[in-house]
Amino acid sequence: MNQHEDTNSEHPVRTPLPSEGLGEALFLGTGTSSGVPVIGCDCEVCRSSDPHDKRLRTSLLLETSDTRILIDCGPDFRQQILPLPFKKIDAILLTHIHYDHVGGIDDVRPYCKLGDIDVFSNEHTCRGLRHNFPYCFTDELYPGVPKLNLHTVTPHHPFRVGSVDVLPIEVMHDTLPILGFRFGRFAYITDMKTIADSELPYLKGVETLVVNALRWQKPHHSHQLIQDAIDFSRCIGAKQTYLTHLTHNIGLHNEAEARLPEGVHFAYDGLRISV
Ligand SMILES: [Zn+2]
Ligand SMILES: [Zn+2]
Ligand SMILES: [Zn+2]
Repeated sequence: MNQHEDTNSEHPVRTPLPSEGLGEALFLGTGTSSGVPVIGCDCEVCRSSDPHDKRLRTSLLLETSDTRILIDCGPDFRQQILPLPFKKIDAILLTHIHYDHVGGIDDVRPYCKLGDIDVFSNEHTCRGLRHNFPYCFTDELYPGVPKLNLHTVTPHHPFRVGSVDVLPIEVMHDTLPILGFRFGRFAYITDMKTIADSELPYLKGVETLVVNALRWQKPHHSHQLIQDAIDFSRCIGAKQTYLTHLTHNIGLHNEAEARLPEGVHFAYDGLRISV
């Protein structure tokens, strides 16, 4: 079956720098693939009663006055969205196909009552979705399955969701090329290990950055560490940086936060920021 065409041709490319703020970003989840607490772990972070130490799988909701965009839809989606007003989700942007980023796709079903949902990602992820959730992409849908319109997007080719211009960029998750997304002066990147120098111009002018950081020490093959994230933030000149996709190894949120330099913060579930 042919994939739906992306919307590039309908919307002229424009420099993604609105003069005013876009809206609000709500961190739905800031935890690594296992979430925090980790099942079976009795470290002080996993035993903490501080809500800042409870991290669902990484996801973010971007809301403007008229557009609602979900970035990633992990296995905690249902729990993350239930407390929020039941309103249309205009699009889901997927960074990559890993379970902690797409495992909740079937749970968007109720939102399809409010209209089909456009899903945007790269070729690899779109193919993976069709493979993992084949019943969502047959010509005749079984009643009740989510109605998803898949759009394959290419790094550096902007597209539009409602009134929001989105610029996909490419970062490397070990050897897997995945997507980050830029919205005006706000950029969202998760699961990055490295980024090519050729991507950096696309992040010029970003003032608020969300980026992944796994832990303080012990390098990981596919995720950067906290110092890598700080260096990256400095490199692109972000004024405010929020770290996400965190493990219990960062320590208790409040103590760990005090170790970060000015302008860099640990995100936490439920945090809302203006972007
Ligand atoms: Zn992940
Ligand atoms: Zn633990
Ligand atoms: Zn991943």
